Amino acid sequence: MTKEVFNFCAGPAMLPKPVMQLAQQELVNWNDMGVSVMEISHRSKDYIAVAEQAEKDLRDLMGISDDYSVLFMHGGGRGQFAAVPMNLLTAQQQADYVLTGSWSKSAFTEGQKYGQINLAADTYTNEKGEGSILPFDQWKLSESAEYVHYCPNETVDGIEFNYIPEVDKPLVADMSSCILSQEIDVSKFGVIYAGAQKNIGPSGLAIAIVRKDLIGRANGFTPSIYDYAVQNNSDSMFNTPPTYAWYLAGLVFKWLKSQGGVAAVQKVNEQKAALLYNFIDGNEFYSNKVEKQYRSKMNVPFFLENEALNAKFLAESEQAGLLALKGHRSVGGMRASIYNAMPLEGVEALVAFMQDFAQKNG
Ligand code: PMP
Repeated sequence: MTKEVFNFCAGPAMLPKPVMQLAQQELVNWNDMGVSVMEISHRSKDYIAVAEQAEKDLRDLMGISDDYSVLFMHGGGRGQFAAVPMNLLTAQQQADYVLTGSWSKSAFTEGQKYGQINLAADTYTNEKGEGSILPFDQWKLSESAEYVHYCPNETVDGIEFNYIPEVDKPLVADMSSCILSQEIDVSKFGVIYAGAQKNIGPSGLAIAIVRKDLIGRANGFTPSIYDYAVQNNSDSMFNTPPTYAWYLAGLVFKWLKSQGGVAAVQKVNEQKAALLYNFIDGNEFYSNKVEKQYRSKMNVPFFLENEALNAKFLAESEQAGLLALKGHRSVGGMRASIYNAMPLEGVEALVAFMQDFAQKNG
């Protein structure tokens, strides 16, 4: 028996233990076929059943209507930074990008290769010096934009929208680090995409949920594997999809359903985040520098008052089985990523450790 560890990595992130155990059990002999699911043809009826079931379960979990196509694609989140403009823009057309942190910035930079990309809102620090979101009434949205792109949860900065922007253009959202963490109204979006490695499954896979009227507009130069129409017409099997990642995503969706679905995990996610932020706010040894209303419920960056203790904190937390708490290199400090698979006990263990560390070193 290995000691219990809690993995706070931002991604690839921990997956639910029962999912990993089931995958292990099925690894070499799946469906009593004597082979692994990763060794069979993506065109076999057995695999197609897996693929279809995963899509159906995702549709159930998120309430995705038939107006949307659900595509299982390659290339993770950044692949979609390119796929979105290639599919929705010509070189002369415009799109509005809202910047709230490092991932929306990267999407903005990538988009510039393909069209006229407007900076509708830049990253924003409030008057107290906290990371925040530029108030919506100050955004510079353009009349002629084909779409508005934003990132509801900034994984690195720990900044999360507490509302869905009301815009009169298709809204495109990079939900890589918040998909399935809370209930959302899919009908408000033109495109939702996510790299899989936080709340869905292994890295490399990306899911794109695309409103059907936006499909079929790709530039001629778009690689076929990134063309939403090609993928839609081939049930995401234009080429060999990442079959094992898709299978694992399907197991995660089943697990989510067994937990009571998105509404139920949302409750636990709120509890976990409240526990951690309340502790940080109540202890002078630690701080979080994001405006309260925009604090991420998935990624919690925090700082030690005395940064000289960072290395000690990291070494001792790892010893205590609390892994990957080092903050992103661009932010510094610490970061605890607490996606769906992180149980409440993991956050309780983290808070207990932080309390103890503050007492001994304060
Ligand atoms: N968007 C967000 C919000 C992310 O957190 C990440 C990865 N951490 C990406 C995009 C990029 O994903 P990938 O590494 O799969 O390209």
